Amino acid sequence: MADTLRVTFLGGLGEIGRNCLALEQDGRIVVVDAGLMFPEPTMYGVDLILPDFRWLIERRDRVDAIVLTHGHEDHTGALRYLVKDVNVPIYGSPLTLGFARHRLSEAKVAKDLTFIEVADGERRRIGPFEVEFIPVTHSVPSAHALAFHTKVGVVVHSGDFKLDLTPIDGRRTDINRLAALGDEGVALLLADSTNAEEPGFTPSEASVGVALRRLFLERPERRMVVACFASHIHRIQQIADVAHETKRKIAFMGRSMEANVKLARKLHLLRVDSADLIDVENISRFSPGEVCVICTGSQGEPLAVLSKLSRGDARNFKVGPDDTVILSSHPIPGNEWSVGRVIDDLHREATEVIHSGQEPVHASGHARQGELRTYQQLLRPRNFVPVHGEYRHMVHHAELAVSMGLSPKHVLICEDGDQIEVSEKGIRRAGKVPAGFHYIDGSAGDLDERPLEERRMLAEYGVLLVSAGVDRASATIAQPVAISARGWFEGASDHELLLTLTSAVRTAIQEALAEGNLDSDSLSKVAQRAAGRLLGQRYRRQPVILPAVVVL
Ligand SMILES: [Zn+2]
Ligand SMILES: [Zn+2]
Repeated sequence: MADTLRVTFLGGLGEIGRNCLALEQDGRIVVVDAGLMFPEPTMYGVDLILPDFRWLIERRDRVDAIVLTHGHEDHTGALRYLVKDVNVPIYGSPLTLGFARHRLSEAKVAKDLTFIEVADGERRRIGPFEVEFIPVTHSVPSAHALAFHTKVGVVVHSGDFKLDLTPIDGRRTDINRLAALGDEGVALLLADSTNAEEPGFTPSEASVGVALRRLFLERPERRMVVACFASHIHRIQQIADVAHETKRKIAFMGRSMEANVKLARKLHLLRVDSADLIDVENISRFSPGEVCVICTGSQGEPLAVLSKLSRGDARNFKVGPDDTVILSSHPIPGNEWSVGRVIDDLHREATEVIHSGQEPVHASGHARQGELRTYQQLLRPRNFVPVHGEYRHMVHHAELAVSMGLSPKHVLICEDGDQIEVSEKGIRRAGKVPAGFHYIDGSAGDLDERPLEERRMLAEYGVLLVSAGVDRASATIAQPVAISARGWFEGASDHELLLTLTSAVRTAIQEALAEGNLDSDSLSKVAQRAAGRLLGQRYRRQPVILPAVVVL
């Protein structure tokens, strides 16, 4: 049999989040990333969404390693669930592993794991492959693209990237190495599609520093409070730099902010003078113009610092008319509403608010069309599969690749659960594996689709309890049909409906009794169906109906 490489997509193709895929050669498997996704507001009580790891767990004996492209949650956040069943060495840059290890320790699963740090440009044997770690620029330092040297040729995974030519740490995407791989011949490219709908080039991270500097200089008397992602070390660096330049002391707020700053300083990836730092408790000792607060909560997360500040709930520090709050971020789809509430509440405190809709205080970490074209040109892959995006992003990315000269035969749009095979001949679909959303409810544990659907119905229509008692000897209703509801009925206006409903249920039970039905469970179903039919047909309502017909 000719050599083939199989790729199984377990997450991230069709949504932004829970990135995970598996490369397989000669029966050996290497996993790339194990990320989580945050729920939509209608996924009631869901805290996290994971990839469905069953396919990997069933093959755990064949899995050799997990390789991480970078430290973002959508690439590392599901590790703590995966490593319980698949305990294999985890590879990544020191910062990527530092972030991952911190969260694994918090979850108390880090103890028996093996972490293997890799350096930029390093090439090493991992499972059946030689793997190269190629530096790329992104919204977290030390991110990598991966080049797998396989039996069918080089497979490049772009990681999350942009082509920032003036990165804060001077560590550019290694375009030369990518071009060399292109010359060698790339059998398959898997590349980040997040911004594939956006024309042009993503601005450099450095452009954010220019905007921040101006805003700080324009406000010498004001206390500056800047919220950003705790993992965005380069953003934090730029905020700290303008704070230093404008002679402000810096207070870091937020658990993840403090932990990440500590780690990044230890790894010499963040340079902040200890003399510039103050504790939050001491903010009031300085006049507003002497202080800069750097905090979490830029996505409106209810428990993060910025939300607490906006509600006046933070200990030791309250914002008011002397403060300017900068949201150095862009809301992730789904978070717009909560970010809006936080901005509103800050206005209630008479605080000035500046966000990315008004000033260029944020730059994306993902490549736009211009950079994606450059990438295609550098690598000139024989086959291409867009990854990391919602469906429309991947379609645009595929079209872009075709417009760059790739034959549509060699471009596949895949979704979670798809398997493909790459060989000398090209690329083909090779099957499907389970890859649905795996919901985690922090208080209840795993959650299936069904209880989640019930929660949606409860939220939309409420719940109805239908009860009655039946006397077995006489086969008659002894305890009259009673209906109580939550989340819907409102006193007198629904009185008629209640009567109609009660009567419909009573009739249905009586008919069933006349047919000799004396079983509690099946009479309960009869009552449930009668109530459901009437409410659905006449009132277009689908509450959760809990029937309790008891035969005594
Ligand atoms: Zn990502
Ligand atoms: Zn990322």
